[in-house]
Amino acid sequence: MKIAKETLLFILEVSKSSAPLEFAGMLSAEGDIITDVVIVPGTESSDESAVMQLFMLPNIHTVGTVHSHPTGDTHPSTEDLELFDRKGQYHIIVGAPYDLSSWTCYNNKGEPVRLAVVDYKFKEDEENW
Ligand code: ZN
Repeated sequence: MKIAKETLLFILEVSKSSAPLEFAGMLSAEGDIITDVVIVPGTESSDESAVMQLFMLPNIHTVGTVHSHPTGDTHPSTEDLELFDRKGQYHIIVGAPYDLSSWTCYNNKGEPVRLAVVDYKFKEDEENW
């Protein structure tokens, strides 16, 4: 599995601007590349509430979840592990300082997995050229 670099940068940017509140969303993919984030409205400040917002979403077609840990510790909490088990295969946790090395992707068992960061040409970009 891969993630578009622009999508990852967007996640890091939104997480940074949401801090000290948590940011949470669902990931969707085009083929084997994660290209979109469906933002969960009304995310609140504690880890449990960000995760609860994700639990309450209907099962739209997504490949996993993303949320931030403003503390910078990107290890999943017990609540996170329950979420991972129910909401898809790929779960990203980003933490301060929100740069390209401050995130980790986990599988549905909570084990770290490698997610390649790739350049992906979005349709909107092509129209602008
Ligand atoms: Zn968490």
